[in-house]
Amino acid sequence: MSEKYLIAIDGPAGAGKSTVAKMIAGKLGYVYLDTGAMYRAVTTLALEKGIAEDVDTVIELAKSIELKLAFENGVTKVFVDGEEITDKIRTPKVNAKVSDISRIPEVRLEMVRIQKKMGEEGNLISEGRDTTTVVFPNADLKIFLTASIDERAKRRFLEYKQKDVDTTLEDVKESIENRDHIDSTRKVSPLKVADDAIEIDSTNMKIEEEIDLILTELNKLKSRNN
Ligand code: C5P
Repeated sequence: MSEKYLIAIDGPAGAGKSTVAKMIAGKLGYVYLDTGAMYRAVTTLALEKGIAEDVDTVIELAKSIELKLAFENGVTKVFVDGEEITDKIRTPKVNAKVSDISRIPEVRLEMVRIQKKMGEEGNLISEGRDTTTVVFPNADLKIFLTASIDERAKRRFLEYKQKDVDTTLEDVKESIENRDHIDSTRKVSPLKVADDAIEIDSTNMKIEEEIDLILTELNKLKSRNN
């Protein structure tokens, strides 16, 4: 019988977590869990409804919606109560608010509950700022992926340019620095390196090198288990 594995990738904004996680999921046929997309979905809805400043109403919203993720052809599709909102969750407006929404403990509890449930099946790769510490502390393989702030800003800026989002490199850098600060200093589940995580600084690495490194670690683990 083949073993099932759970890989968790943590790290700051723009480190390339989702690109790496998606590619590994594709190679191994694993389920890809984009935890950030869930916080983005709640934020998008709260902004649309004009209730983003009202913590109690945001909590009610997070508890009442039916949130579903579907990973198809390399894209995570996000559905709220059956309606697809994928195209709305990655805008500068959502970026500017998502760290505020994701530091609400009750919102986190609800998202983590759904994430843990998804992880029960195994053969899953999850990605997000507390996945190695809180969501999957027992993950088989934990990776902390990082890169310099300038490199991360550059990568995000290029992503935006491809999508024709009107912004500047300076604005992207400032937004990432802001999110880094809120994500690292929040009381609940701050961004931090788990003791048993493997740290990868991808500043000067090609994506293929990062993937090779992670797959080598996974193979080491598999051979230890056999
Ligand atoms: O990964 P992504 O940039 O889509 O995440 C958006 C935001 O969601 C992060 O800046 C962070 O505030 C929040 N987040 C989180 N915990 C996670 C994933 C994302 O707090 N596991």
